[in-house]
Amino acid sequence: MNASHPLCTHVRLATSEVGEVAVCTECGVVNIVLPFMTLRVPEENFPELAGMLSTAQAELLARSDQKSPEPPTQSDAKREPRLH
Ligand SMILES: [Zn+2]
Repeated sequence: MNASHPLCTHVRLATSEVGEVAVCTECGVVNIVLPFMTLRVPEENFPELAGMLSTAQAELLARSDQKSPEPPTQSDAKREPRLH
């Protein structure tokens, strides 16, 4: 296996402030590129990963709803949501 994949051709699927998602047309690997790491997921496993992330996000929202019944009115200007 050649880890550097010199013949890879990445096709960008999506971009956002936190990174981008591209698929390699040569090896069929979905690359999730984040500022500090890159996740490589086989294309056939990507729907499951995407579903898991959606489930996690829904769970986070549900948990934050339980924690703070009051709407966060003052947080918008203070928070830096991209810095974890
Ligand atoms: Zn590749």
